Amino acid sequence: MAQRPDMISLEEARKLVVGQVKAMPVETVDVLDALGRVAAQDLKSDMDISPFAHAAMDGFALRSTEVAAASDAAPRVLRVIDEVAAGDVFEGSIGEGECVRIMTGAPLPADADTVVKYEIVGVVEGDGRSGSQVSFAAPSEPGANIRAAGEEAKAGDVVVSAGEVIGAAGVGFLASCGALEVPTYMRPRVGIIAIGSELVAPDVMPGPGKIRNSNSYAMAACAKEAGCIPTILPIVEDTEEALSAAVLAAADEFDFVITSGGASNGDYDFIKDVVEGAGELLMTSVNMRPGKAQTFGIVHGTPVFGLPGNPAAAYCGFEMIIRPALRKMQGYRCLERPTVMAKLSKPMKKKDPRRIFLRSTVTKDEAGEHVVTPAKNQSSGLFGVIQKSNCLAVMPEGKESKEAGERIECILLDVNEEVVL
Ligand code: AMP
Ligand code: MG
Repeated sequence: MAQRPDMISLEEARKLVVGQVKAMPVETVDVLDALGRVAAQDLKSDMDISPFAHAAMDGFALRSTEVAAASDAAPRVLRVIDEVAAGDVFEGSIGEGECVRIMTGAPLPADADTVVKYEIVGVVEGDGRSGSQVSFAAPSEPGANIRAAGEEAKAGDVVVSAGEVIGAAGVGFLASCGALEVPTYMRPRVGIIAIGSELVAPDVMPGPGKIRNSNSYAMAACAKEAGCIPTILPIVEDTEEALSAAVLAAADEFDFVITSGGASNGDYDFIKDVVEGAGELLMTSVNMRPGKAQTFGIVHGTPVFGLPGNPAAAYCGFEMIIRPALRKMQGYRCLERPTVMAKLSKPMKKKDPRRIFLRSTVTKDEAGEHVVTPAKNQSSGLFGVIQKSNCLAVMPEGKESKEAGERIECILLDVNEEVVL
């Protein structure tokens, strides 16, 4: 048997796996489908944004020189000669002593250089509309309450650069620029295989000695959350032949293959043998807990990652190593989750020298400082604890325990606003 790779640090593992994947081919999607994805090319506007100078407020458009000397004591009275609503164009000219009533979004008349908002204009005669006399008690700067043409972009400008992640506002911005087709990296298709003769599908009540396959569902959800298209493949029993056939078929069909279970050194753990036999075995274990048994290799040119079977261990392996690689494949530059430093709410003993990821909840105290409370049950067999957590608190390598109040790094998970932060 060939010499197998030794245990490596998490950083080395991440570097290794991220280094083995490359960007997906580019596809063009409708702008709305580009939400949250990475622009694969520079995107340009086909016109000036905004296309014309327009009123930013409902009010009166006029020449600023008309009201330059206006004051409370000596208001300047102007005649309203017309009205211009959003969507209309006032094509006339504004003579001396005249102004035009204007609505937000309406193009600025050619002769006007300022807009005075309704609220500070007095009506001297009429109802303030066409034919009325209105008074101004203060000067108004040129450009006041006007949005200039081309303020945000000029025709032909790059409005979203290659590599930018397109947010909801970006979708709107691109729509305004006429950039309705967005080249982006294809979503990786991820094949997910659960290994274990004890496993049954979740829609079955397990018989004696059997459990439901939960990992495939969690890993499919993790892959989906990371922007991929997951496929849950059939459960594979603990035999080398069955696993080998399943992994080879998946490697030929998918962009990335994830297995769970059978990753340790037990009598029925075959993922390492299979990857070694069919391709190149590059990693067997990582200095982390939960989830030391993390297998990685290349089979038929496809990355194959063997996660441990314990649910929390599989989850941590995905979060820490697989997710960054799947993000790189989609063109993201930032591959890791955001972190915060938080005060431990209770002391944490450390006996295992591996880096430990504590399933935890981070909140803010009255002073606005982050405080982290590790879940009581840190068993690597549990998904429910992670469902109730919002971060992984990191106990670094070594055997140093932490006191209550000491600050530790917390990796924020994909939690929504319902989970306190
Ligand atoms: P293994 O890595 O195969 O030694 O499995 C470790 C533990 O995780 C065992 O208790 C397995 O029953 C459990 N396990 C393995 N695969 C799954 C799975 N797909 N869903 C839920 N639990 C699993
Ligand atoms: Mg097993």
